[in-house]
Amino acid sequence: MKQEVNNPCFLCGSTKSLLLFETTYPDLNYPGIFRLDKCDSCGLLFNSPRLSEDELYKLYGDNYYFFHRRHSDEFQRITNIYRRTIALIEQEVKQKNVVEIGSAKGYLLALLKHRGWQVAGIEISAKAAAQAQAKFGVPTFCGTVEQYVEQNNSGIKFPLVMAIDLFEHIPQPMNFLISIDSILEQDGLLIIDTPNGGSRNILTLGSEWVGFNPFHIFLYSKENLTQLLAKMGYSIERVFSYNNRRLAAANPFPGGAGVAVKSKVKSLLRKAGVHEHSRNAYRKLVGYLRNKNGDIKRHIAASAQLVEKEPHYLETEDARGELAGEYGGDNIVVFARKRAQ
Ligand SMILES: [Zn+2]
Repeated sequence: MKQEVNNPCFLCGSTKSLLLFETTYPDLNYPGIFRLDKCDSCGLLFNSPRLSEDELYKLYGDNYYFFHRRHSDEFQRITNIYRRTIALIEQEVKQKNVVEIGSAKGYLLALLKHRGWQVAGIEISAKAAAQAQAKFGVPTFCGTVEQYVEQNNSGIKFPLVMAIDLFEHIPQPMNFLISIDSILEQDGLLIIDTPNGGSRNILTLGSEWVGFNPFHIFLYSKENLTQLLAKMGYSIERVFSYNNRRLAAANPFPGGAGVAVKSKVKSLLRKAGVHEHSRNAYRKLVGYLRNKNGDIKRHIAASAQLVEKEPHYLETEDARGELAGEYGGDNIVVFARKRAQ
């Protein structure tokens, strides 16, 4: 049963919103019509009426974390994105100690661990949490951050909390931020990286935009996020945006085929008139073409080395990119410092 939510808007209190689009997601077993609204006053994008939290979690299922993808392919895809994150945090955080909420299969934490960080994950998927633990030795609490706080009354706090591609999934954003507050040290850093509700590509792509899917129930612009975090007692230290697609397509491993092959497959399918969401055709072609020599340890070591070569974020290609200064990229990133209340 779906219910109307966000009325009044949890960010600004407005009771008026406009329909942005309606669509269906039969491939993802989403029941009925998915509707996305835009707050008339603050521009927050939100899904309403929305599935109950139980139904929402059922929707995730075992396919959600792409368990069919090989680790080496995934590493190729995300290394460029993570190297920027790592270059940034290694400049700004002295104590190498981090908890990542929504740590999924533990890739980012595996990279950080390789670079000498003390790492911990919080992850709602039992299967993903078990993989992070078994494959990479990343200690991972299975559950939500709210459950983590309830069950860990040791009062341990971290100098760095990261939530990457997670905040847009959270049905109760205020509760989530309150829980983070109890595990983040005073003057600690919170990094939120989330699809950008102010992305320029939304204007041209509409409901086909890469950040829209039934799992993303709130989409925040730069203003939405910075105002919310300022209200919660953070000072905003850095904001930037980036485009996942451009970054992920730049294959950092010469000779590795994963990402390059995937974009080739997509363009082949498009030319043949096959919609890229035809997953079976897509997977079959990728399986055909991809390089079979991937090895997870090699990718971790190679990724860690790439960060070594580019220690300063401002020197990376990404920071010089056309969207970086305009906050119009597909994802928005905020570095927020917790201040005394
Ligand atoms: Zn609003």
